[in-house]
Amino acid sequence: MDQKVQDIVADLKAYLEYLKGMGIETLPAAKEKVEKMMSSEAPTLSPSLEEVRKELGDCKRCKLHPTRRTIVFGEGNEKANLMFIGEGPGYDEDVQGRPFVGRAGQLLTKIIQSIHLEREEVYIANIIKCRPPQNRNPEPDEIGSCSPFLMKQIQAIQPKIICALGTFAARTLLQTDAKITSLRGKTFDLAGIKVLPTYHPAFLLRNPDKKREVWEDMKQIAEWLAKGEGKGSLHR
Ligand code: URA
Repeated sequence: MDQKVQDIVADLKAYLEYLKGMGIETLPAAKEKVEKMMSSEAPTLSPSLEEVRKELGDCKRCKLHPTRRTIVFGEGNEKANLMFIGEGPGYDEDVQGRPFVGRAGQLLTKIIQSIHLEREEVYIANIIKCRPPQNRNPEPDEIGSCSPFLMKQIQAIQPKIICALGTFAARTLLQTDAKITSLRGKTFDLAGIKVLPTYHPAFLLRNPDKKREVWEDMKQIAEWLAKGEGKGSLHR
């Protein structure tokens, strides 16, 4: 990745922190920058997934690297119109190097299949790419180091719809401290991408009565795809 993109990402991060300190939680200015990074006017700023993976390398940018087994980069269709973004790898993901392959992952697979899609047709990634010890919550410095790579993956894939799974995905993508219960089921715009937060599959395993709400969210996504809001098809 060239220096220019690195400078934009560093600049964006510093600006987000400055605005947060000012109590500003919704970020039209930051969104503008993300939009610019993703716009077709700036094709040289859109990396390929391969380039993003290469730049990530054997990442040691945060304190998770000594205890991780594998970097879980993400997987799926590079041209997917629909992306699912979770929190971070757990034990099974750390062992296999693939996102959402444990119990929560099996439920995510069923959720994806509930709208007649397969995992291979969408792209699945996480806010952080290394497993935190004992599966604790990701910490702000870890999210800060890792999320620029997720942003570059989003730039590379250029999805039309992102389903944010759970608190950390929703809060990081939308730069808010709002609760997932208040964000869930609402549609947000991120540089022209529809972002729909829903409950995390691990939460659903503990609270199966919440599956109905996730089903409502999946129906919304299926409707957008059918209406062509994902450019009329699943992927390009
Ligand atoms: N939970 C997540 O958020 N991501 C995974 O990849 C697995 C479980």
